[in-house]
Amino acid sequence: MRDKDTAIDKQAAKTPESRPEKLTVAAARELLRRLKLRGTAARIAVVQCLADNLSPLSHAEVTERLGQLGFDASTIFRSLTELAEAGLFRRVDLGDGARRFEFAPRGEGGDVAHPHFLCLDCGKITCLPGFTFELRGVRGGTPAPEEVTEVLLKGRCAECR
Ligand SMILES: [Zn+2]
Ligand SMILES: [Zn+2]
Repeated sequence: MRDKDTAIDKQAAKTPESRPEKLTVAAARELLRRLKLRGTAARIAVVQCLADNLSPLSHAEVTERLGQLGFDASTIFRSLTELAEAGLFRRVDLGDGARRFEFAPRGEGGDVAHPHFLCLDCGKITCLPGFTFELRGVRGGTPAPEEVTEVLLKGRCAECR
């Protein structure tokens, strides 16, 4: 396990310019410790991968990003589901059949669900944590749905405009 941890450290050190706020191995380990989960190399890598993304990722996308570190698809899938059950990740269902996960730690703003935006040109999905939408009915209109679990907006992203 030790050697895998070192590999991740090196990986992070290689690309410091990508994201200055990149979650460190120590910070990821601390998040796991608070959830009473052992800080295995795979869990730490999965936490870092999702924490560094402002978009929900599917199992295939996480596997693609972490495959080079030597983790196999089933280990990554197990980590994703464990951490979703532990309340560190949220499952995002955008209705296209792909099960996606995003970093949403409980008690640190992660408990508030946010809308997502799908660009119809490039297909990119973006989290919109700074936005809320309210369903406001008109008098005499149809009754409100029992529960809204996901708000998905579609259109064109800034790059495709
Ligand atoms: Zn786009
Ligand atoms: Zn999101």
